[in-house]
Amino acid sequence: MSVNIFCVGRNYKAHAVELGNDVPKSPMIFTKPSHALVPMLGNEIELPKDKGSIHYEVEIVVRISNDYVPGMPINQAIDAMTLGIDFTLRDVQDQLKKKGHPWLAAKGFKQSAAIAKWMKWSDLYANFEHTPFALNINDKVVQQSDASYMIFSLETIIAHIEENYGLGAGDLIFTGTPEGVGEVKTGDVLKAYWNNTEIGSAVIR
Ligand code: ZN
Repeated sequence: MSVNIFCVGRNYKAHAVELGNDVPKSPMIFTKPSHALVPMLGNEIELPKDKGSIHYEVEIVVRISNDYVPGMPINQAIDAMTLGIDFTLRDVQDQLKKKGHPWLAAKGFKQSAAIAKWMKWSDLYANFEHTPFALNINDKVVQQSDASYMIFSLETIIAHIEENYGLGAGDLIFTGTPEGVGEVKTGDVLKAYWNNTEIGSAVIR
């Protein structure tokens, strides 16, 4: 079975506001093709060169362990989590939004879903909501937050996705980005930190 990559848009109030968007009343879900996946484990990430501004969005990513059935506690539904980057062609997205077109071209391009090192959910869930995470670019902090700022909880997101789209073992959920998004450039070094520990890095090509 192939992996579905679900992503939550506008799940942190301050990020919705920084892009001039309304705060949603129910989870806003989009997907990326599985071909978008790329590790960020010290490797290079090749991004489009001719499509305008590309933004980083650091996000908590969870992996589904069992085919989810309604009411299942999330600790049985999730087996691992990490940080990821939801790379976004921001100029393309602005055009798509104006036209009312789907976001695929802005969000689903190859290597647009970077994934740091997986960590066992059972070790992390107790302090999950108050564990700081951050993205550094060229050793400067550009985004930092924690899951307590999410508008929709993991429980709500998981139930919503299952109800509308189905949710199975191996599926990934990018849970939305906090404020501080901005542009990446060729040569930038991205490092993702969970609880002040580096769990992933990549160089932009
Ligand atoms: Zn995102």
